Amino acid sequence: MTEQRVAIVTGAARGIGAAVALRLAKDGNAVAVLDLDEGACADTVKAITEAGGKAVAVGADVSKSDQVAAAVERVVAELGAPTILINNAGVLRDNLLFKMSEDDWDTVMSVHLKGSFLMSKAVQARMVEAGYGRLVFLSSTSALGNRGQANYASAKAGLQGLAKTLAIELGKFGVTANAIAPGFIETDMTAATAARVGVDFEEFKKATAASIPVQRTGTPDDIAAAASFFASEEAGFVSGQVLYVAGGPRN
Ligand code: NAP
Repeated sequence: MTEQRVAIVTGAARGIGAAVALRLAKDGNAVAVLDLDEGACADTVKAITEAGGKAVAVGADVSKSDQVAAAVERVVAELGAPTILINNAGVLRDNLLFKMSEDDWDTVMSVHLKGSFLMSKAVQARMVEAGYGRLVFLSSTSALGNRGQANYASAKAGLQGLAKTLAIELGKFGVTANAIAPGFIETDMTAATAARVGVDFEEFKKATAASIPVQRTGTPDDIAAAASFFASEEAGFVSGQVLYVAGGPRN
């Protein structure tokens, strides 16, 4: 039997992060379920342990370096050195450029880009020490440009650059870095978008599905399957890639 690896999934209290955490646990990894509020991680941890897996809840704001350092140290102490990191935590602050505040810009950059930078920097030493690592970044089809998302699209495009750069820098230490760019996935995030534009979520999903080649919207499990592949040992020759998981090409 191969040794159990330790994975950290950020923003794993719900949505895509929760599905990824569950999937990585099913794959045999011990999982640190990290989110802003430690208490909010309880459901994900319970789902993992009830299915026979191993998980701990960790509260941290990924955009704060002191909290990131403390969180990674806790994971090392409670589960062991992390060699899989899924940078998934995210927020939306959508608005057209002329209405977008500096705060909207800074918040999105801090959580997605700076948060992924801080988390990756904090775990890379452990990965290099182990001679093994899997870094995965949650980008988006919005990286290609999306009305009302100047901040989010910039951050998501930035994450693709970060993944490719870390693939180049860390490859010689057995570490791969890849990005997943989801299209429309059914979560609280897309439900909030529907609410913001004043459309019922079911109607919103139906209308979106009609414009997607496979004629359906995505689920968190669609993304978990891609994350499982990038996090696996057998994906060791795949690095610096962006996988669009969007029911069609979109790239
Ligand atoms: P979600 O349901 O809104 O979940 C995001 C999670 O991240 C929440 O639990 C949130 O905590 C947490 N979080 C926010 N800021 C954080 C911080 N500073 N530190 C730690 N955790 C933080 O979102 P989702 O739809 O699952 O999306 C997950 C990722 O996929 C995001 O990066 C998103 O941009 C990306 N994505 C989603 C879609 C989609 O269609 N849903 C498409 C493309 C890409 P709180 O609840 O406390 O805020």
